[in-house]
Order: sequence, then C-alpha cells, then structure tokens
Amino acid sequence: MAKPRPNRPLRPATLLVRGGQMRSGFDETAEALFLTSGFVYDSAAQAEATFAGTEQHYQYSRFGNPTVSMLEGRIAALEGAEACRCTATGMAAVHAALLSHLKTGDRVVASRALFGSCHWIVSTLLPRYGIATEFVDGADLAQWEAALSKPANLVLLETPSNPMLEIVDLRAVCDLAHRAGAIVVVDNVFATPLLQRPLQFGADVVVYSMTKHFDGQGRVLGGAVLGSRKWVEDTLQPFIRNTGPSISPFNAWVVLKGLETLHLRVPAMCRSAAAVADMLAERAEVARVLYPFRADHPQQRLAMAQMSAGGTLVTFDLKGGKEACFRFMDALQLIDISNNLGDSKSLATHPATTTHMRVGAEERARLGITDGTVRLSVGLEDVADIIDDLSQALDAAHAGAARAAD
Ligand SMILES: *Cc1c(COP(=O)(O)O)cnc(C)c1O
Repeated sequence: MAKPRPNRPLRPATLLVRGGQMRSGFDETAEALFLTSGFVYDSAAQAEATFAGTEQHYQYSRFGNPTVSMLEGRIAALEGAEACRCTATGMAAVHAALLSHLKTGDRVVASRALFGSCHWIVSTLLPRYGIATEFVDGADLAQWEAALSKPANLVLLETPSNPMLEIVDLRAVCDLAHRAGAIVVVDNVFATPLLQRPLQFGADVVVYSMTKHFDGQGRVLGGAVLGSRKWVEDTLQPFIRNTGPSISPFNAWVVLKGLETLHLRVPAMCRSAAAVADMLAERAEVARVLYPFRADHPQQRLAMAQMSAGGTLVTFDLKGGKEACFRFMDALQLIDISNNLGDSKSLATHPATTTHMRVGAEERARLGITDGTVRLSVGLEDVADIIDDLSQALDAAHAGAARAAD
C-alpha cells in the first residue's frame, strides 16, 4: 500500500519537487515519461465506459497523458488553481484560453503592451471572427474604466509587460472587468507564479509560456492555462481535445524536471537582475533603466504590492539609439544576442529591430520602445561576470562612438 501523503499545505519549493507526481506500478523515484500516443482497454465494455465518461481511463494523448497530467498537477498546486491544462507552446495556451471562451459578437479589452503574437491575436485574428477588440494603455486606470464602462466578455493583460516592464493594477482591473461581465486572463510569464499569483487579485485565468522560466534551460516549448475546475473542464478542455494543441509527453517531462529547480533559479536571477539594474543606472551611456523594484520605476509601489521580487528582466535605453545598441550588443562576449528570455543564459534583445519590428514605429512610440531600448534577460551566470561583460561592452560601444565621431 502507498505511504500516506501529508495532508497539510506544502510550501512552493516542495510542490515544485513533489506536486502532481503519480507513481506507476513499478514504484519509480522520478516522474515516468509515458511516451505513448494511445492507451489500451481490458475489454470492449471498458472502452465504452471510458468514452461514456463513467470510467476514468486515459484514451489518447491528445486528450490527456499521465506525464502531462503530472505536470498539470504540479503547476496547479504551485499556482493555487483548481485546474490546469498544458499545451505545445505559450501561444497555443493563449489562443486556446481566448478562442475556447469567445464567440462572434463578443467584446475583448486588452492592454496594448502585449507579447507580439498575443497582440496579433487580439488586433488581427479575433476581429475576423466578428469579435470586437479595444486596446488600452495598461498603466492608465482611467482608460480601463472607460473601456469597461460598456459590457465586455474577456480582458487580456500582461504584467509586468514585455519589454517596458509596465505594471497593470490587477485588483482594480479585475474589479472593473467583473462589473462589465468579463473574465480576466493574465499572461504571467514575466513574473512566474513564484513572484505573482494573479488569481489572488481576482483574475479568472492565468496563462504561461513554459518555454521561459518553467523549462528555463532553453530546451523545449510549452504553455499552460489555469483556472477554475468548471471553466477548465467545461470550456477549455473540449476546445483542446478537439483542436489538438496538446504538448508532447516528452516536452512535458522536460518541463516537470525543470520546475524542480524553479524556486532556486528565479530568485537567483532576480537578485542578479536587481544588481545589474543598479549597475546600469550608474553608467553615463545609459539614458534610463526600467526595473519594477527600483525607486525610479514609475510604478514601484504597485509592483511591490503585487510581486514579491522585481523579476528577471531589465530594460534600459542607451544614448545614441540603434547604432549605440548594435555596437553594445556586438561587443558582448558572454551575454548572447537572442529574442528568448527566462533562460539560465543571459540574453540581450533589441526590441525595435526584432520582437517589436512588426508592430511599426507609431505603436512602438506609444509603447515607449525607442531605437535605444535594450531588453536584458538576466541568467544564472555569476553576477560579477554578467556585470563585467556589460561594463566592457558599454566601454567598447562608447570607444566605437568616439572613433566614429573623429
Ligand atoms: C514567450 C511568450 C509568449 C509565447 O510563448 P511561446 O512558448 O513562445 O509560444 C507569450 N507571452 C509572453 C509574455 C511571452 O514571453
């Protein structure tokens, strides 16, 4: 007989190692990888009962798989959510959360500062299906109030936002949304469940790209959607079951093992990011630094009320625009140039020419992204080595500028 499990509440670090685990008849220590597309039945009657829903039995890995179930159980336990479903990518999670809930004639209100593909779904895809959409400046409560003075069905927001680390007041927006009849979907990728729990502020659904901090080691893509058991089972699950954004059991297994160290990796990356932000703010080449827990962040108090640390990303503007950014990034010797984030390796991005190229100059200006903006995802290297690399690259970019002026 299996040993009894503690029925007292467990802490996040413990849930990340133990949450959701189901052992097979072989009593393995680690989570098993069930790399199988289908499942077999003892009898035709068992197959019938399974499809009728009177017997619980795995059927097909598009609907559910034991390795994926373990991952879903672990994430739900950490988030404090009733239910979770995982998907092949973060975008599949956002798409499934939105399209499973919405229908023609509905209305969506979203913060403008969204991940590029989330912005495309709201601005371009939803209107094709007759869903009205409106963007607001996420930091401006008056705009939320105006947009939610009319009935709405769904609110989508991201906080802190990519790449300008703008904070949305979760409780205030959730209250306004609920009065307008909308559910609130929060993209919590930048904060991770260790730093911010949107459900505690009234959000209905939380979505993640597991590609970022959950795997955190640059190996696999994945997404997760969390909400009430009723919404997940009645609204989300039929959509996933029949449209097939399901995650591979192999990728789910990689993320399961990645999660075991999330509580070690994320706080370490946050400490380094805070130190990097302070170091950058001292440099004459840097026009401004954005980091949610710094006193000069315009929403520091709100960030501190919603989050337990400032996050793993630092955004800053270099004097000298695109040329200065390119000189700086090309001079980096340790930190890689990449559009990914939340990785154990520190990564630098120039949003204006990569992740936010397609949104256009006008929208970039509205979001506060300049040609001098650099987004830095701070990794797990020794912070002194990260700071040394940034310092020598700033020096090199500065010397390059002086040479160009001669
Ligand atoms: C990466 C990311 C996504 C999309 O996730 P994928 O796994 O790349 O599909 C969505 N939202 C945010 C904030 C992200 O950083």
